[in-house]
Amino acid sequence: SQEHLRNSEKLSVVGQLAAGVAHEIRNPLTTLKGFLQLLSKSASTTTKELEYLDIMKNELTRIESIVSEMLVLAKPQALAFQLVDLKENLETIMRLLSAQANMHTIEITFKDNGLSPTVMGDDTQLKQVFLNLVKNAFEAMAQGGKLCIRLTSHSGYVRVDFADTGAGIPEDVVQKIGEPFFTTKSTGTGLGFLLSKRIVTAHNGWIDIQSKLGQGTTISVHLPVGS
Ligand code: ADP
Ligand code: MG
Repeated sequence: SQEHLRNSEKLSVVGQLAAGVAHEIRNPLTTLKGFLQLLSKSASTTTKELEYLDIMKNELTRIESIVSEMLVLAKPQALAFQLVDLKENLETIMRLLSAQANMHTIEITFKDNGLSPTVMGDDTQLKQVFLNLVKNAFEAMAQGGKLCIRLTSHSGYVRVDFADTGAGIPEDVVQKIGEPFFTTKSTGTGLGFLLSKRIVTAHNGWIDIQSKLGQGTTISVHLPVGS
């Protein structure tokens, strides 16, 4: 309808603006980081000042993450669909994060349940989704724990579970996950889940959340099986 068209036009203008702004913010950020680096190397910098510089560096890194995630969100993504071997895709993610898992005493297990599913999708963007979900699981297990990634199937769909033994999510928080900029972390961007949801929806799938406070969270990604 006319109204619908107008809304999507508005969205794309806002999107273009956001992408432009995000792009413009990157250069001054790099400059700021460079000078912080210089200051932290200066001999006259005191321990206290080093601490402040460290905080500033962390916050700049956060702005950088927000900006790059916003850039991805604002730009209409051209999906490169092909047959994706989900197991292979997930194994790459696990390899990528195994050192980080070790460092945080997190044990990752993978259960394929005898499945070897393929989906029609964008390999890189699906990796982005899984990476976001695994990172969230890691961040929920600050004291270490277990992450179980498993594959199951149901009537034409494959389900990928990311089950962690982390802090869990309070009920009033669950509903807010995926809202732009919603985060409970001091260094979070609150864009990771939104991005993941957007990508999975573009694949005609969906994500759901199950969580028990103090016991852990299972995030499930449902994707239509492709052949
Ligand atoms: P960020 O990770 O930057 O905070 P996300 O969009 O990835 O942003 O996640 C939003 C919020 O959802 C997190 O701040 C956290 O509160 C919650 N969350 C997501 N995944 C989990 C999980 N596995 N366990 C506990 N909380 C989670
Ligand atoms: Mg996240």
